[in-house]
Amino acid sequence: MPSTNAVDLAAHPLTAWRGPLGLPDFAHIGDGDFSAVFDAALKAHEAEIDAISSNKATPSIENTLAALELGGEALDHVSSIFWCRAGAYTNETIQALERDISPKMSRHFSAISMNEKLFARIDDLYQRRESLNLDPETLRVLEKTWKGFVRSGAKLDADGKTRLAKINEELSSLGTTFGQNVLADERDWALFLDEADLAGLPDFVKSSMAEAAEMRGRKGRYAVTLSRSIYEPFTTFSERRDLREIAYRAFTMRGQNGGASDNTSVVRDMLKLRAEKAKLLGYASFAALKLDDTMAKTPKAVHALLDPVWERALEKAAADQKELERLAAEAGSNEKFAAWDWRFYQEKLRAEKFAFDEAELKPYLQLDRVIDACFDVATRLFGITFEEKKGIAAWHPDARVFAIKNADGSERGLFLADYFARPSKRSGAWMSALKSGYKLGHGSKPVIYNIMNFAKPPAGEPALLSVDEAKTLFHEFGHALHGMLTDVTWPSVSGTSVSRDFVELPSQLYEHWLTVPAVLEKHALHVKTGKPMPKALLDKMLATRTFGAGFATVEFTASALMDMAYHARPDAPEEPLRFEAETLSTLHMPDTIAMRHRTPHFGHVFAGEGYSAGYYSYMWSEVLDADAFAAFEETGDPFNPALAERLRKNIYAAGGSKDPEELYTAFRGKMPSPAAMMVKRGLV
Ligand SMILES: [Zn+2]
Repeated sequence: MPSTNAVDLAAHPLTAWRGPLGLPDFAHIGDGDFSAVFDAALKAHEAEIDAISSNKATPSIENTLAALELGGEALDHVSSIFWCRAGAYTNETIQALERDISPKMSRHFSAISMNEKLFARIDDLYQRRESLNLDPETLRVLEKTWKGFVRSGAKLDADGKTRLAKINEELSSLGTTFGQNVLADERDWALFLDEADLAGLPDFVKSSMAEAAEMRGRKGRYAVTLSRSIYEPFTTFSERRDLREIAYRAFTMRGQNGGASDNTSVVRDMLKLRAEKAKLLGYASFAALKLDDTMAKTPKAVHALLDPVWERALEKAAADQKELERLAAEAGSNEKFAAWDWRFYQEKLRAEKFAFDEAELKPYLQLDRVIDACFDVATRLFGITFEEKKGIAAWHPDARVFAIKNADGSERGLFLADYFARPSKRSGAWMSALKSGYKLGHGSKPVIYNIMNFAKPPAGEPALLSVDEAKTLFHEFGHALHGMLTDVTWPSVSGTSVSRDFVELPSQLYEHWLTVPAVLEKHALHVKTGKPMPKALLDKMLATRTFGAGFATVEFTASALMDMAYHARPDAPEEPLRFEAETLSTLHMPDTIAMRHRTPHFGHVFAGEGYSAGYYSYMWSEVLDADAFAAFEETGDPFNPALAERLRKNIYAAGGSKDPEELYTAFRGKMPSPAAMMVKRGLV
């Protein structure tokens, strides 16, 4: 009779990887296999954790920390294949399993972090850490592990633990409610229009509005909805000021319309619970708790970034508004310039200043050549090379396999890539690892993959990319390099295992090399003529990048500052929306620009913990990538070998083995300043 005990983890293709090049033998994996293998792998990991925590020997790095890090190999293997399939090639069986496996995994890992005997052994090592003679990476891993337990409540007494568990549970359910409320408001509101109301709208907006109306049972009409992909183009192009105002008001009031879907009390309760949680764990505020293991570290450092940017953005936006008001007056408007006018007149200004068509660029960006460009840049910067291995089965016939070699010809690992959209793939683009690279124990070579969603061309024709798509390819390849170049001992600090405000540096930085002239001249060749992209076209494309920066920076930074205002105080405001209004007034927020996310629909911050006290990190990463690329520009050589080696050693190879501030300073010689980011955004 088959049971979970019948699974031989040492032989099953999901856990024992014996396919070509050390990959899993994908051809012999069935969807029906996952469930039983998961159960067996979870059991095996439990047994390993049990053995570590009940070991009678004095705790040592070997018998405790290393055993903990190397444990769960079978579970890692089956999980990495499963999550790859769930994202890139799913079906009903996989989806049903996902609902079953997610809670099992979360119970499993929370049991480990609540394991008192295990924590006692980690704590014993931690208290003796100074006398253990540890190398810096091992010391850091020990400290991070200990902190992880403590942040999960390991040092609390029984009452404290119970209270923390209750708080976490309530926060998680409030977060879900918050997200569902926003969705409900977005779903329930629609403004139905007729052909006569569509003045100014381009065809792509009309057709998505027609589809949205049809989905709501009003075929033949046109719906403005509160989805950003309709709301933004509608308020950008519609000539009807009255309709723009209606849409604007509905969009900014999502989650604040009274009734069952109103988020006001949800936010109030969440802020209270977060403040209580921080206090329980010994932190001055929720922001202090969240920032503790980031590069920024403190709310003060976040403000040191955001405050000067805010001042500059306000000035830029005020100057931009004058120009837009002039345009509005010329167009015959005698109304006071309002928030629902901004996008509309900004688009008119853009069309006037930069008349150019994205479609002109596409023939120069062939997928295969952009992939070559990614590889070529990596070779020039870091010495690694890529060789495609044809005929090797991965999770789907479209997935391609590349062997990575070091400069001396030795094997570095594997890179897999799955570029084309299909219905079984979720949208977006991402990087992940089937296996991460590390040296502990027998060591492991990285197996990294990228997933994209480019439109598949008809057979025999080359795939062409837009500029944004080519940028995405470079971005995700930058994350992939973070995984592929990793050179650390401990698995838990391998590759992209770094803090939230540091993880986008390798990816966003890599994007800069796409527009380096030498790269485009070599790889951006016209699909028919083979000629490189004309300089004039490239210049036009680069010039549009800073347009509208005042507006974009104000709407983003206002949300980031509000996130900090809520979370950097020791308590919680009784009336969050009044607090929002007061904070905006102190900041001198212009009434002609709305925050990118107002409190009652700020999903990054309230629909789960994700970016709470962390919305700033998008801009933080931008500061890092602009400053890091400026280092190359300052030398006059985008491939400066000495700098490239420092970049490899301290950023791409270092993972989370050292504090990010220390790593960045070792690369750049100093901490980043926002100056290069402000130039890149066109704020100076
Ligand atoms: Zn990214």
